[in-house]
Amino acid sequence: MKRLKIISVFLFCVAVCLTFGYVFSKEPEWVAASTRIDCGRTIIIDAGHGGYDGGAVAEDGTPEKDINLCIAKDLKAFLELFNYNVVMTRESDKSTESDNGKNSWKTSDLYNRLQLMNKYDDAIYVSIHLNKFTSTNVSGAQTFYSQKSENSEQLALSIHGKIISMLQPENTREIKKGTNSIYLLRNATCPAVIVECGFLSNREELEKLKTEKYQRMMAFCIFCGIMDYNNALRL
Ligand SMILES: [Zn+2]
Repeated sequence: MKRLKIISVFLFCVAVCLTFGYVFSKEPEWVAASTRIDCGRTIIIDAGHGGYDGGAVAEDGTPEKDINLCIAKDLKAFLELFNYNVVMTRESDKSTESDNGKNSWKTSDLYNRLQLMNKYDDAIYVSIHLNKFTSTNVSGAQTFYSQKSENSEQLALSIHGKIISMLQPENTREIKKGTNSIYLLRNATCPAVIVECGFLSNREELEKLKTEKYQRMMAFCIFCGIMDYNNALRL
């Protein structure tokens, strides 16, 4: 009788272990796919401007650099949840220039941001900026892509598509090729895009861009776009 009891307890323990082992090892398919396959891929996030380079400044004095950094940090957090290797061009209110005595600080700053691309074989480059225009009616994100680097157009399509479908359904803009005047895109050595997340010159959009919630939503759209891009490449 005692022996029978020991066997039943043993069998019960085996059943519990098997059940929980199965449940906890079984992750949803989309989580498994993204964490396994993207593990190790490097995403360089460039929070535009920084330090004494404030970028565009809104009428109320809000500089572009601060909102760029908030969105960049939120994007980093989302990507790291999914095992991406994230490299930031800056994580505080600093520009990246180095004083080599040869170049102007702006040239040095852009050059240093570009150099990060050369350090990684599998990187993609996402630069976060904000727009400003003379007409205060203009609003909505704009995404530019590098003509030099293969797959940049696909990356821009994926990110811009998510911003429109998830956050700005009224936005009718299409992605644009970066002109030669955009140093980072002209010289890009990996898939590279600049996401202008909205217009500081539009009062309504400025108020949204200043909120943590909207910054996080924007970052989430960009994150989803990066996931989409990776999935498209695997097809
Ligand atoms: Zn900018």
